Amino acid sequence: MRLVVQKYGGTSVGTPERIRSVARRLIETQRNSCQVVVVISAMAGVTDNLLTLAHEISRQPTQRELDILLSTGEHAAAALIAMAVNALGGRGISLTGAQAGILTDRSHTKARIANVSPKQIHELLEDGYIVVVAGFQGQTPEGETTTLGRGGSDLTAIALAGALNADACQIFTDVDGVFTCDPRIVKEAEKVDEMAYDELLEMAGSGAKVMQSRAVEFAKKFGVEFEVRSSFKTGAGTVTREETPSMEDVVVRGISLDRHQAKLSIAGVPDQPGIAARIFSDIGAAHIIVDMIVQNASIEGTTDISFTIHEDELENARKILMPAVGRLGAKQLNTTSGVAKLSVVGIGMRSHSGVAARLFECLGRNSINIQLVSTSEIKIAVIVDEKEAQRAAQLVHAEFGLGRLLPAASATHPLARSTTDS
Ligand code: ASP
Ligand code: MG
Repeated sequence: MRLVVQKYGGTSVGTPERIRSVARRLIETQRNSCQVVVVISAMAGVTDNLLTLAHEISRQPTQRELDILLSTGEHAAAALIAMAVNALGGRGISLTGAQAGILTDRSHTKARIANVSPKQIHELLEDGYIVVVAGFQGQTPEGETTTLGRGGSDLTAIALAGALNADACQIFTDVDGVFTCDPRIVKEAEKVDEMAYDELLEMAGSGAKVMQSRAVEFAKKFGVEFEVRSSFKTGAGTVTREETPSMEDVVVRGISLDRHQAKLSIAGVPDQPGIAARIFSDIGAAHIIVDMIVQNASIEGTTDISFTIHEDELENARKILMPAVGRLGAKQLNTTSGVAKLSVVGIGMRSHSGVAARLFECLGRNSINIQLVSTSEIKIAVIVDEKEAQRAAQLVHAEFGLGRLLPAASATHPLARSTTDS
């Protein structure tokens, strides 16, 4: 018999009606000769509400108690799903993360999975149960409850699929899959049928959030193939797996846009060892997340260093850098908000040359100025003016021949690819 691990996000179990429809789908899957393990997120909004409550009670809630509190959202949803399965005449049973054998390290609120011992799950499957696991949580070797970071139910599903050696891992969410670009930005965007782990990771790092990044990293490490698909429709979604040679035939898999970025440039920085370290350790100490970093070749002993951060952090970063600029003997600090990062992603870039030239040429021809560039082996990212960002994405999407088939479903999909499901 096939063993299937499914995961449903918060929106997919957001109302009693949706809980019933998930239960129906589980029973149906089991009837098609499958053993079914299902991972459930808290109902939409529940985790946020619990967090708000905790911060109303305490400015710095105890991390241990926070984990006990947050894990209840998934307990409730899992129990409700199991009840719904039973009410429909099926055989469902819910398990907490600990009961499901998810063992983690001791870092509360962002624990890492150390080991999965799914003995009890196997026994329950043998007895014919649909096993409903509360996502996003596990326990330490001492039996303390931990949670796996926001979006952690994805990680629970991937880890269980790996440990159970499942035949399929399906992540059901509120979008049809991963798109070549957010359809709200580019209406021609279409669903991608398959992609490599690294492509999904790069797209996620560029603002296209369909899956928790840690879950994708885990899947990559253990070779767990998974499919992201809609819980509201039938039909295939996007399969993410190890790369195959044919995946390289596609030069660009997708495009993503990160809005609300700010660019900071420190001009005339003395070109000496240790200077960059000092700049970025000050920024890091303030927990500001730095994205692109570009340093120029030095001219006459000085260089320019530019980097980008989220717009909301700009004031904070300025306060830190203004005095530092003087101390380091740099000339000046220039900052620009209202910029966006456009990223073009695809493992095909490794074997195709001229991708950067084609991207730059497309933007240049359309008078869109490039303010910064950074690349990885499978990504080229440029910073452009926020006002030009959508037009740039549309032009580049067309330039690389994405979304040529324009399926009506994805073009009109209201929820696009930046899912709100969790
Ligand atoms: N409920 C948790 C969150 O909102 C975990 C999850 O949904 O995956 O982050
Ligand atoms: Mg999620």
